Amino acid sequence: MKPSAFAYRRASSLSDAVAALAANADAKIMAGGQTLGPMLNLRLAQPAEIVDITRIPELCATSETSDWVNLGALVTHAAIEDGLVPDPTRGFLARVAHGIAYRAVRTRGTVGGSLAHADPAADWLSCFTALGAQISISGPTDTRRVPLHGFMRGALDTDLAPGEILSAVHLPKFSANARFGYAKFCRKDGEFADAIGAALLDPDRAIYRLVASTTAGAPIVIEAGAAFAPEEIPARLDAAGSTGDSYERRLRAVILKRALAEAMGK
Ligand SMILES: Cc1cc2nc3c(=O)[nH]c(=O)nc-3n(C[C@H](O)[C@H](O)[C@H](O)COP(=O)(O)OP(=O)(O)OC[C@H]3O[C@@H](n4cnc5c(N)ncnc54)[C@H](O)[C@@H]3O)c2cc1C
Repeated sequence: MKPSAFAYRRASSLSDAVAALAANADAKIMAGGQTLGPMLNLRLAQPAEIVDITRIPELCATSETSDWVNLGALVTHAAIEDGLVPDPTRGFLARVAHGIAYRAVRTRGTVGGSLAHADPAADWLSCFTALGAQISISGPTDTRRVPLHGFMRGALDTDLAPGEILSAVHLPKFSANARFGYAKFCRKDGEFADAIGAALLDPDRAIYRLVASTTAGAPIVIEAGAAFAPEEIPARLDAAGSTGDSYERRLRAVILKRALAEAMGK
């Protein structure tokens, strides 16, 4: 199918894009277009106007402070995979990026688009949540910075208000002893995962965080202690509201155990 007719506008700055959204309640942002493109073609989305944000320099920028790495929303999966942006995880992010879809999708797909679309199976949602990421959200009056955990309210549903743009992702810097783990189960390479597990063990900062994707909503977060045993995972997931049938819940637990085992060096 072809998309229904829409007006097209290329925004030159973040304020220009925010103004375009404010001027037309039926406008929609396009970043990498890897999800929005098919949705337009299938007419699952029929916006009156597309606001193209891909040429906004401030959304492509990266920076660092003593405690944070800041990635503009337009940083692509491929840029992370290729090590072209600062990586506070010493290569862990590149590995996660490499597992997203196919290279063609990674070349255009963006971190901002991935988080804003809020597919429960999206890799960055689980990975960045485990890392304790924050995001910046820019609207007509200000830019607010909030934890990523809590941003996703459900499948394809976020805390973004109409007219707001996810403008940056902020990743904390980790101690030298921090360890990371990531595992996912896909029926076919390059496709969305049936289950994702992510783990961050940063003993110097007393952070022992496990994250499991869900099929229906936001990732499940387990704040585990230093003495946490992998055998506790199924019960902790169930207590945290793990949904689905017994196969789905078991798969989620197995994949999260694999992520934890990697972080523990096993
Ligand atoms: C075949 C295929 C396989 C895939 N497999 C995976 C996978 O295994 N893992 C995975 O994580 N992802 C996967 N994806 C998703 C892909 O990686 C992109 O992350 C995703 O398409 C969204 O990023 P985008 O930049 O293309 O956003 P777009 O398609 O441009 O936009 C998606 C949605 O987000 C909104 N949006 C975009 N940017 C912003 C912003 N900055 N602020 C507010 N709203 C915004 C748009 O309005 C739209 O509603 C796959 C995609 C395809 C086509």
